Amino acid sequence: MIPVTKPFLPPLEEYYKLVQSIWERQWLTNNGPLVNELELKLKEYLNVPHLIYVTNGTIALQIAIKALGLKGEIITTPFSYVATTSSIVWEGCTPIFVDIDPNTFNIDPTKIEAAITNETSAILATHVYGNPCDIEKIQEIADRYNLKVIYDAAHCFGTKYKGKSIFEFGDVSTTSFHATKLFHSIEGGAIITKDPDLLKKMAYMRNFGHDGPENFNGVGINGKNSELHAAMGLVNLNYIEDILSRRRELFAYYDKKLKGLKKTTQSLLPESEYNYSYYPIVLPSEEFLFKIVKILNDHWIYPRRYFYPSLNTLPYVQLQNLPVTDDISRKVLCLPLYHTLSFEEIDYIARLMLRVQNN
Ligand SMILES: *Cc1c(COP(=O)(O)O)cnc(C)c1O
Repeated sequence: MIPVTKPFLPPLEEYYKLVQSIWERQWLTNNGPLVNELELKLKEYLNVPHLIYVTNGTIALQIAIKALGLKGEIITTPFSYVATTSSIVWEGCTPIFVDIDPNTFNIDPTKIEAAITNETSAILATHVYGNPCDIEKIQEIADRYNLKVIYDAAHCFGTKYKGKSIFEFGDVSTTSFHATKLFHSIEGGAIITKDPDLLKKMAYMRNFGHDGPENFNGVGINGKNSELHAAMGLVNLNYIEDILSRRRELFAYYDKKLKGLKKTTQSLLPESEYNYSYYPIVLPSEEFLFKIVKILNDHWIYPRRYFYPSLNTLPYVQLQNLPVTDDISRKVLCLPLYHTLSFEEIDYIARLMLRVQNN
């Protein structure tokens, strides 16, 4: 079977060595030494001033929204994973969807201004599939209307814009280290900000608001992650260059093999370095997509309709008419892409897909 993704698994001995050290210390969670080491190494690797390691990418979003004190309406993208929208609703705010750009699949900055009202407090945008949003245009609008900017950068480990980690942009960026992501710690996530006061506030929030054993600094939640998770992150970080370069090769191989297939692909933001975290294609019609999915599934290959359905159709939000998102989400397919996928498997996938087109 070829699934859409498989988690990267490092050599077991390397993980085991760290687990052994955890047994020796008998320190399993609560800001342990491996969590601290992972935070340091991630800051170094990403070249960002501050970073908080948390339980997952969803709690990272919730803490960001809470720490910025956002109220009312948050302008967001309908083309993302459900956690982007659900976090807004969970924090008592209202998501206002703005349609996406048909080429980049990111929120269309030219449509943001029309959605701003007196109730708007922030823009929460996703760098879809690791392709940076139009950061400069979004920041310019946010500055003009005094809005906060949060980026859901869950797909973006290793992505750069103008030579800097994409995590540096916005008031806060959040990311996910879930097992399906390019870099992972089984479950995990991070919050990145350049603002030291905001950082401090979010660090308290991660640990119930604890300021020492008997004092509390504001309301908090449990966003801590464990030593076992940090250990997986530390071992995986040793392989990050392998992971990134393998994906680049596989991505280029798909491009070559699928040249003859009728499809459109994502346009990347100029001056950015992409991480090849997904292989999305937009097919000419949903009907054609169903045919492709059928032939692949018949051969035990499971691409994913990611993201489908678009988030403006969730049962707990106000339905909005967003023609570009509706169209793309019906026709987009992410093909299998993971570290141990082989060129032969890509040959096979491409051959089956081209067979549908030529029949
Ligand atoms: C994976 C993902 C999340 C959620 O991250 P978790 O670590 O699974 O909570 C949020 N947003 C996007 C865009 C994602 O892909």
